[in-house]
Amino acid sequence: MTVTVTLPADDPAALDEAARLLARGGLAAVPTETVYGLAADAAQGEAVARLYEAKGRPRFNPLIAHVDSLEMAERLVDLGGTGHALAHAFWPGPLTLVAPMRAGAGVASLVTAGLDTLAVRWPASPALTGLIARLGRPLAAPSANRSGAVSPTTAAHVRDGLDGRIDVILDGGPCRIGVESTIIRVVTAGRPLLLRPGGTPRADIEAVCGPLSAARPDSDRPDAPGQLASHYAPESPVRLNATQPRQGESYLAFGPRPEIVGCDVFNLSDRSDLAEAAANLFAGLRLLDKPGRVIAVAPIPEAGLGEAINDRLRRAAADRPIAS
Ligand code: AMP
Ligand code: MG
Repeated sequence: MTVTVTLPADDPAALDEAARLLARGGLAAVPTETVYGLAADAAQGEAVARLYEAKGRPRFNPLIAHVDSLEMAERLVDLGGTGHALAHAFWPGPLTLVAPMRAGAGVASLVTAGLDTLAVRWPASPALTGLIARLGRPLAAPSANRSGAVSPTTAAHVRDGLDGRIDVILDGGPCRIGVESTIIRVVTAGRPLLLRPGGTPRADIEAVCGPLSAARPDSDRPDAPGQLASHYAPESPVRLNATQPRQGESYLAFGPRPEIVGCDVFNLSDRSDLAEAAANLFAGLRLLDKPGRVIAVAPIPEAGLGEAINDRLRRAAADRPIAS
């Protein structure tokens, strides 16, 4: 058991301390604009192994390497023309690019789970880029939760799942966007591939690089491992497209609606704002997650960030693996 300390994410001395821990192979939870990430030095295989261990994450599910500049990204991968255009348009921000890894990238093989491609992102997070700058190397950082569970959007969510398993939590308050990054695989010939919808809406991306191809349908043999069917799951079962809660259900609502009595209700956005709904999604799922309850979820439009919200909700509702 490790003692997990919490420090303010906007304090330079706290970042110095967290960077020292990371350099020694430690694990730090860090706020980003998407969700809280759990960072480890991507160059240290042992640190990355500890990270998988702390999350209980299957080792075939590769990690995103976070950078603090386009130059650092280019030392790691060959972005190609499309990758460059996307990086220029959306970095720093909630877009991850998967591209062929360069020889000598200096990233532990556990980060890519042995693939010859690497996922790279430059986050809009002063705390995370501050740590990368202090270390001078990329940080591998999946979401800071136990594998398969609902992602954390506050420091308290991180502590709920990982207290005693990691070294430090940097508390930067609630995350602005609230869903993970959009992941795109850039390919030399053909259309870029949408591996995971996320915080950068598809339409914005297609405005830069033209139409995207869809990833293969969900499977349990992931070549895009974030596509595991059950993920982002609360303990409670989830029922989708529910216009009304039934007896014994809690209700995750969306849009203006008359008072519902006799059941727990959390409204993702009473003004039907999808950005607000994305920011509230994981906190709402956690709040309604109670033993013996089913979480009924209102229909959410598929437009804009709705694609990412519905992706997470479908996985939250999917059949769970028997053992975890
Ligand atoms: P998380 O860090 O939990 O948001 O998950 C990161 C996701 O990035 C993984 O689940 C994968 O789907 C995806 N990913 C990371 N590296 C690769 C890669 N080399 N090829 C395809 N997908 C990747
Ligand atoms: Mg995750």
